[in-house]
Amino acid sequence: MKLQTYQASSEARVAIQTPQGLIDIQKAQPQLPSDIQTLLGMEGWLEKVQELRKQPGLPVIPVETVTLLPVIPHPEKIICVGLNYADHAAETGDQIPEIPVIFNKFPTAVAGQDAVVPIPRGVRKMDYEAELVVVMGKGGRNINRQEAWKHIAGFCCGNDLSARDWQFLPPARQWFIGKTFDGFAPIGPSLTTVDEIPQPAHLDISMKVNGECLQNSNTSQFIFDIPFLIEWISQVATLCPGDLIFTGTPPGVGMGKNPPRYLKEGDICEVEIEKIGILRTKIGKTR
Ligand code: ZN
Repeated sequence: MKLQTYQASSEARVAIQTPQGLIDIQKAQPQLPSDIQTLLGMEGWLEKVQELRKQPGLPVIPVETVTLLPVIPHPEKIICVGLNYADHAAETGDQIPEIPVIFNKFPTAVAGQDAVVPIPRGVRKMDYEAELVVVMGKGGRNINRQEAWKHIAGFCCGNDLSARDWQFLPPARQWFIGKTFDGFAPIGPSLTTVDEIPQPAHLDISMKVNGECLQNSNTSQFIFDIPFLIEWISQVATLCPGDLIFTGTPPGVGMGKNPPRYLKEGDICEVEIEKIGILRTKIGKTR
């Protein structure tokens, strides 16, 4: 099942995406919440929504009549893993890490399907990174890896947009400042619920820019798998419903090409992940 969030007057409302259009979950079942984070935190939410989906005659909203928002419009946390594919670590000249490299982005970095993300003023080396994004369901602290899968709501494609000139500003590496510009965390095209994804999640992942395939791999290449990442991160911070974990990128980023291939105005990035879909992002004018 695919979930979407759409704008209705001043509200961001969660809906089931079907080939015919959107089914507003709360309008179909008033006992369920209207916002996605409250929904994903409920015990048994997936079964309840699956039950609802089976009912005949549910009202359908044509997608073209509404504005879609990022499926998690205001995540409490966006946590990212650097260097999680062994061959990407080789490409950047880094050692294979023994523990995950973790950084974060502000919630203001989130963008949705077909977002136009401007090149921020002062950025000369804007780069793409195709990533599988875990969306947390039931929250928790000190989640052990055997239990971790039960805390996942679903998955999105993500593009960990990165300003390499800021990320590598001396005197030290500055992952956060290079990666948290507004709009630098596109997610989508929808949330694919966890029941549709096999465990472990061995999924083909690719990045095309203007139709040219620049990254192509499979998440079986992870150095740290998803249960381990959830266990590791939740030792530090309580994970909450709707928190996003960007799980790292495979080889082929623009910085690693010879000559480097940085993003420019008008470029279209497409992150495609098996069973999840294609996330499209357009690079806008500098501003
Ligand atoms: Zn990344």
